[in-house]
Amino acid sequence: MPLGLLKYGLARRYPASRHFPIRPPLKDGYDVVIIGGGGHGLAAAWHLAHDHGVTDVAVLDKGYLGGGNTARNTAIIRSNYLTPEGVAFYARSMDLWRDLSARLRINILYSQRGHLTLAHTDAAVRTMRWRAEVNKHLDVDSQLIWPDEIARLAPTMSLSRSVRYPVLAALYHPPGAIARHDAVAWGYARAAARKGVELHPQTEVTGLLTSPDGSRITGVETTRGTVRAHRVLQAVAGYSGQVAGMAGLKLPIRSIPLQACVSQPLKPFLDPIIVSGSLHIYISQSARGEFVMGGASDPYPLYSTRSTLDFKEGLFAHMLELFPALSEVPIMRQWAGITDMTPDFSPVMGPTPLEGYYIDAGWGTWGFKATPVCGETMAHTVATGRPHPLIESFALSRFARFDQVGEKGAASVGQ
Ligand SMILES: Cc1cc2nc3c(=O)[nH]c(=O)nc-3n(C[C@H](O)[C@H](O)[C@H](O)COP(=O)(O)OP(=O)(O)OC[C@H]3O[C@@H](n4cnc5c(N)ncnc54)[C@H](O)[C@@H]3O)c2cc1C
Repeated sequence: MPLGLLKYGLARRYPASRHFPIRPPLKDGYDVVIIGGGGHGLAAAWHLAHDHGVTDVAVLDKGYLGGGNTARNTAIIRSNYLTPEGVAFYARSMDLWRDLSARLRINILYSQRGHLTLAHTDAAVRTMRWRAEVNKHLDVDSQLIWPDEIARLAPTMSLSRSVRYPVLAALYHPPGAIARHDAVAWGYARAAARKGVELHPQTEVTGLLTSPDGSRITGVETTRGTVRAHRVLQAVAGYSGQVAGMAGLKLPIRSIPLQACVSQPLKPFLDPIIVSGSLHIYISQSARGEFVMGGASDPYPLYSTRSTLDFKEGLFAHMLELFPALSEVPIMRQWAGITDMTPDFSPVMGPTPLEGYYIDAGWGTWGFKATPVCGETMAHTVATGRPHPLIESFALSRFARFDQVGEKGAASVGQ
């Protein structure tokens, strides 16, 4: 062991600095309360303080910071969506991801790998072509490629024609990346705390307080007492319907478990991220060498994060067709998160009919990549009271206007 490390470990005079400050007492009131200390809530807190100088902010979480879906996702980052609204929004997120380590002063292990969405049918090839054209129009690097080019990018993947669903083509998105999800939450939390934001884990919001006529938010009830607030932002992913219900809001969101798993670590042999919407599978190799794998959502709404054998059997039936070499590789861990699914696979963001109450929800299986842009756009919206231009089409009111932003062709299984 290096002498310096030993000295650091044993000496009382050199205690490791805390990542976050110790939880302070909860004040009677704040300018802004953020419900949910996942990536989105923490990013919004940091942008409020950094971009708008709003620092009288408390982030409340019923568990530990970053312990929800932020800790459970498979960390795929991309912007090759289908709708112009979606592509512009996620492209801005990619811009923010690229220098996030430097801005937050923490290494989030951002690793650009390239992202391949496989097409196994003529219909899927048409959708990939459509996505590639929308992407190019908005300056997002995407192209349709054929098996010879796929073989060059992913030589360890089987492109056999003698399987039930042979690979016909792929949408190739070179900027596709992965990052260390915990570091993202910790980075935003630490940077926000440095600006004066208070972080309150183990503080569940149990009710919302409104003015006597019910038109505006005035505070929140928590397991640690009542807190007044001028403005409240909810960013609670799988619990969106429950928390919005406290504000009398009915969301078009269902909470559905999504499972994933990782293998034992192996030497690097898969560079790009591979996704197949038709086979309901995706896979990438982490910096530690583990294969990170996932598939379709569970087939029913549920508030439970149990792991099932059904998921594993379904996943590997197809995974081994593409990667027969994995047949002897042990699975180390399996887990689930509760995802907040919207009917059009786009988020619900912005002000709500309750004055001063803002929502960041509907992140389903695709919200990790949006963490930076959610922070930026929700902070703008809360600070100015007006929706940021990038999120205007994601307003809750779109469902009443039948003006959905249909992203199913690009969000489903593709993460
Ligand atoms: C298995 C899996 C794989 C995924 N893979 C990807 C992927 O590859 N790429 C991608 O872009 N997205 C992916 N996602 C989706 C992504 O993880 C989420 O959309 C994103 O993390 C949501 O972040 P968040 O901050 O909104 O929510 P969360 O991280 O879930 O944070 C919400 C927080 O709210 C807290 N909370 C809830 N209720 C209350 C309350 N009443 N009071 C106080 N606190 C409360 C919770 O404790 C939690 O910490 C995946 C999700 C899962 C489950």
